[in-house]
Amino acid sequence: MKILYAKYILPITSEIIEDGAIVVDAGKIVDFGVREEIDSKFKEVERRLDLKNALIMPGFVNAHTHLELSDIKIKREVKDFREWLYQIVEQRGKLFNVGGILGKIKFVRALLEKRWGKNVRKRIKEMLNSGTIAVGDVSNTGRLITTLLKAPIKVQIFIELISFEEERGREFFNIAKEIVSNANDVARKYNLERKFKVSLAPHAPYSVSESLFRLIKNFNIGSKTSVHLAEVIDEVEFIKSGTGFFRTFLIQRNRFDYSWSPPGVSPVKYLDKIGFLDENTLAVHCVNVDDEDIEILSERDVSVCTCPRSNFFLKVGKAPIRKFLDNGINVCIGTDSIASNRDLNILNELKFAREFYTDVSDGELLKIATLNGAKALGFDNVCGSIEKGKDADLIYFVIPSDLKRNEIYRFIFSSSTCFKLG
Ligand SMILES: [Zn+2]
Repeated sequence: MKILYAKYILPITSEIIEDGAIVVDAGKIVDFGVREEIDSKFKEVERRLDLKNALIMPGFVNAHTHLELSDIKIKREVKDFREWLYQIVEQRGKLFNVGGILGKIKFVRALLEKRWGKNVRKRIKEMLNSGTIAVGDVSNTGRLITTLLKAPIKVQIFIELISFEEERGREFFNIAKEIVSNANDVARKYNLERKFKVSLAPHAPYSVSESLFRLIKNFNIGSKTSVHLAEVIDEVEFIKSGTGFFRTFLIQRNRFDYSWSPPGVSPVKYLDKIGFLDENTLAVHCVNVDDEDIEILSERDVSVCTCPRSNFFLKVGKAPIRKFLDNGINVCIGTDSIASNRDLNILNELKFAREFYTDVSDGELLKIATLNGAKALGFDNVCGSIEKGKDADLIYFVIPSDLKRNEIYRFIFSSSTCFKLG
């Protein structure tokens, strides 16, 4: 058992504590409070670590990434989502068929794999170094399951399926469900369920058939799932009327289903109609939603993940976070992938979010980046706040000795470094 001391403790679920202490035993929080009280309660401990001018808080949760895409190279500036999508499709093709024709040469293939692995490790390190203790990672291949199983971070992997054609979707589903079952078996075998979970996720309403949405939902019972939802206005047009960019895009790629009839409603209403939305759904982006959509998301207890830097980069608009929060929606935050962001540093994301969402309070934003993310990924019983019984997934900031209580939030949002506590 050990006690950690710091000038400030920010538990998220309760008031900031000045001159505080946290008791940790076997990686779990046993107690926390004001220094004197804790000292009088816990007289015999193995270690006392006084961080002095420091602020301890729960680590951050990055609820939406695509680590597999760590190798992707996209133009630094894109005109819009459409231009970006064409680029990403081309790049992903290269990535998943490792090196195209050249990739058939064993040596080249090994080199490309090595480079990819190096980039993935770099991004994981970037997350850890910015205080991220849990992540929701979207994967199209399951290539990173072993890496993430071993990484010192809590992980919810979403094995993502993309198919607008029913038959092809069923084939993908049959392969993917085996990957999910095997990975969860391994987690169970090694008692890692507290930190590692895998489930299935559909990509988006414009790229996944209704039948595949249903297959995934039925398979996932009790597990979290994720979906890119209402990211771009073209998606709203396509689901409402079957026209526009996504129709052209699917036809060009020979993936359009001519027997399909458009749902005729907004993407949110469509997913609600087919029974996809509930408390286990993490809807990512939700930029192009109306008041009725927001009401549905709230009623169904859906979590919404916002990716401000990605949305800004792709010029898709700004999610109505204030309205989400006012409607009681659990909002969390994600960096999205390196394909639409500069880095996976959650402190940088928060710095940007602080400027981007002027109508969200500092306290709300920190909750979005911690407890809400943990809830969205199903980790809120083990992390996201400083509470008795939770894992000691703690981080700390070194603060100036004269930092006042009311300057704490601003200090966090302007910081570029923090440290993980063991
Ligand atoms: Zn994404």
